Amino acid sequence: MSERRARFDRVRRRMGELRVDCLLLSLGADLPWLTGYEAMPLERITMLVLPRDEEATLFVPELEAPRVATDGSLFRMRPWKETEDPLALIAHAAGSPSRIGVSDRTWAVHLLALRSLLPGSEWLPASRVTSPLRAVKDRTEIAALQAAGAAADRVATALLGGEIRLIGRTEADVSAELGRRLVDEGHAKVNFAIVGSGPNSASPHHEPGSRLIGPGEAVVCDFGGTLHLDDAAGYCSDITRTVVTGEPDPEFRHLYDVLEEAQAAASKGATVGTSCEEVDAIGRRIIDAAGFGGAFIHRIGHGIGIEEHEDPYMVAGNDEVLVSGHAFSVEPGIYLRGRFGARIEDIVVAADEGPIPCNMVDHALHVVEA
Ligand code: ZN
Ligand code: ZN
Ligand code: ZN
Repeated sequence: MSERRARFDRVRRRMGELRVDCLLLSLGADLPWLTGYEAMPLERITMLVLPRDEEATLFVPELEAPRVATDGSLFRMRPWKETEDPLALIAHAAGSPSRIGVSDRTWAVHLLALRSLLPGSEWLPASRVTSPLRAVKDRTEIAALQAAGAAADRVATALLGGEIRLIGRTEADVSAELGRRLVDEGHAKVNFAIVGSGPNSASPHHEPGSRLIGPGEAVVCDFGGTLHLDDAAGYCSDITRTVVTGEPDPEFRHLYDVLEEAQAAASKGATVGTSCEEVDAIGRRIIDAAGFGGAFIHRIGHGIGIEEHEDPYMVAGNDEVLVSGHAFSVEPGIYLRGRFGARIEDIVVAADEGPIPCNMVDHALHVVEA
């Protein structure tokens, strides 16, 4: 609770810096980050009205109010009845703000109605206020990311150990098993389970399909879900391991060695004070030097928290400097189109004592079902 209070304080301070008078938070991660409550994505609006200098109020459909846990100390709750006009109530509670930050994922139909009810206000995305704050995780959040990472690790361990059969099964079937195992290990939901086999391993965001996995193939498995510690907001896992079903092409082995070195170097280099673009560059230099530069076609990583992808992004052009508490993926990949590819991904948290990995599963190439 004290951490949640600290989040409200940080938000109000930054609202002052950006001269934002009121935040209107509905769908997306800001609301659960502050209140522990995630709005249902329905036509009945749920919205926290958070004025800079006054008490915050959560407007919630009366029938969903029993789901909200609050002692009233950080925000009060105002359930609205089916016959009331919630947007008019929200606009009234907002007062007459000159600048409003509204959740990035607020439905357009709600935003347009609110804009006409608050015609004199300037609007900006709430992420302008919240995103750099949410990017720096507190202790509770780091513990949640570690718990999610440990659960995903148990699934990855089963993959590397050959417990999850691959040969003769479709990618979609293996994907479904990865998802079931994520839930069995404690995730509340599965966010994705990419399985790319053979030539599909060279397609980074491959949609697992009906292809049968054969012997001697690379299989990229990238999966993650959302796990809740206690009643708090859920935090995401995201891990990639690439295995081979039998002895691979020697060129694949070489590619994999380069990738493993790049991933390790970038993770090790993700220290407090290093820029996000430098983390990307550390991995990329190694891949470039091996002649695979053109085959590493995405940024090396993304921030992670309540959302699977959030600030900070580890990409050329982002000169933001890592601070203790930044949580992000380190996931270089090398993809030779039409042939094979590989990716290795862990979640890492920057800390004063050095980068803390949330994933501990072996990086060495595992030949399964040999
Ligand atoms: Zn991933
Ligand atoms: Zn990722
Ligand atoms: Zn091992």
